[in-house]
Amino acid sequence: MQKIVFATGNPNKIKEVKELLNNQFEIIGLKDIGCHEDIPETQPTIEGNALQKARYVVDNYKVNCFAEDTGLEIESLNMEPGVYSARYAGPQRNSEDNMNLVLEKLKNHDNRNARFKTVVALIIDGEEFTFEGIVNGKIAFERTGEGGFGYDPIFLPEDQKISFAEMGSVEKNKISHRGRAVRKLIEWLTEKYN
Ligand code: IMP
Repeated sequence: MQKIVFATGNPNKIKEVKELLNNQFEIIGLKDIGCHEDIPETQPTIEGNALQKARYVVDNYKVNCFAEDTGLEIESLNMEPGVYSARYAGPQRNSEDNMNLVLEKLKNHDNRNARFKTVVALIIDGEEFTFEGIVNGKIAFERTGEGGFGYDPIFLPEDQKISFAEMGSVEKNKISHRGRAVRKLIEWLTEKYN
C-alpha cells in the first residue's frame, strides 16, 4: 500500500481523511516521522498556509507529504474569520469561544451565508500541487449536534436540515469542503500510482 504523510496534528482531520482514502493509501501522521513541534502557519491566505505547512515538513523531514488548511468565510463579516478561523477569539484557539464570537457578531445581520474552504497542498518529489474544496451554507442561530469539531455545531450546509455536528463523518465527508478537496487529491494520486 502506498504510504503518504498527512502534515497535521489534528486527530479530527486525520479521522475524516482516513475514511476517504479507504485501503488505497496509508496515512502516516507527523508523530510517526518524529515531528512533534507546532508547524508555522503565518501566511495571509488559506492556500499559503497549506503550502507553508507542507513545505515545512518536506524541508525538515525529507518526505513527500500533503497538508491542508481550512477557513470559515462569512459574507456579513467581510469573509471573516477566513485564514484566522482557528484563533478568531484569541490565541487560545478555542472552538467554543470562536463560535460564541461568530454568533455574537452575526446577532444583527440577516445575511448568514457562509462557506468552508479547504486547500490541500501536496508536495511530491519537489513538485507542488493544490486542490480546493468548498461547501456553501449558513450560520445557525444556535449550536446543534455533538459530532464533528471546530465550527461544525453552527454550520448548516446548503440543502441540508442539520448541522455538520449532527452528521456522522461519512455523511459530512460526502458534501464537506475537506471531503471535496481530498477526493480531488485521491483522484490525482490514483492516476499517478495506479
Ligand atoms: P485549521 O485548518 O486547522 O487552521 O483550522 C481552522 C479553524 O477552522 C479551526 O478552528 C478548526 O477547528 C476549524 N475547522 C477546520 N475544519 C473544520 C471543519 O471541518 N468543521 C468545522 N470547523 C473546522
